[in-house]
Amino acid sequence: MPEMPEVQAHAERLTKQFSGRVLDRFTPFNFTALKTAVPPPDEAYDCPLIQVGRRGKYLLVEFEPVTFVVHLMQGGRLVPDAKLSAKPRGGQARFLFTPGDATGDAADDVSALLLTEQGKERRAGVWCLPTEEVLTSPPLDRLGPEATGVTADELAALFAQKSVRIHGFLRDQRMIAGIGRRLANEVCHRAEISPFATTKKLAESGAVLVADAIQSCIEDGLDYGRSRPDMTSSRDRLSAVHRRTGEPCPVCDDSIRAVEYSGYTVNYCPTCQTSGKILADNTTSKFLK
Ligand SMILES: [Zn+2]
Repeated sequence: MPEMPEVQAHAERLTKQFSGRVLDRFTPFNFTALKTAVPPPDEAYDCPLIQVGRRGKYLLVEFEPVTFVVHLMQGGRLVPDAKLSAKPRGGQARFLFTPGDATGDAADDVSALLLTEQGKERRAGVWCLPTEEVLTSPPLDRLGPEATGVTADELAALFAQKSVRIHGFLRDQRMIAGIGRRLANEVCHRAEISPFATTKKLAESGAVLVADAIQSCIEDGLDYGRSRPDMTSSRDRLSAVHRRTGEPCPVCDDSIRAVEYSGYTVNYCPTCQTSGKILADNTTSKFLK
């Protein structure tokens, strides 16, 4: 799933291409794509796109009266659409702009943004909300503070709320917004802490390490995302340990290890992160939570 750096770089790219374009029509291609009934999308018709913003891992297609909140989930993409085919492959919804009124960079013949999602899961979606209420309404109202800019003091306070493993904490959007599986692995590695370290223990002295690691991993991701012409796929993102089971650690040359879960893999370097200790594989140990 795209995380904060990919989504942010993509939002900036789309703003550059489409800001100022006037919305002609919003078309969902199936009944699950639009998650809200009120206000209707046509409240944004004939309005110029202010910008494509971001909150957590969500894109915000912002018009003055209403904002469309777009969640890409695993395989969703919001892409410039020149073809305008009646039934685009994987198409979930389309923002069609009035042609010929570009103030952004999009060529005049690219007059639409298409939300696509490959596969059958159909989990990507769009919420249409009054712009002044967008941050305080579902789905954004439950998000924790943005990962970027979070301070060590804020983190320490969050760590003290509940004792959970740091890897799970980092992925919990209600705790801190924008980090997913890749960044959780990378942040723990860069902070040189075990992914299984508890937040209670880290609250005493680890918040500075984690806050610094979050900022530097995000900065690297942003630099990389902004250098790309389009949103990167998960195989094409920076990583020191994520998806690198068995490969040498770029810091110490130890072999990257994995703990497998049903939905994701925790990757870590024993030498850098656990004083050489091998963490129990979840599939073989039922006793570790
Ligand atoms: Zn290492």
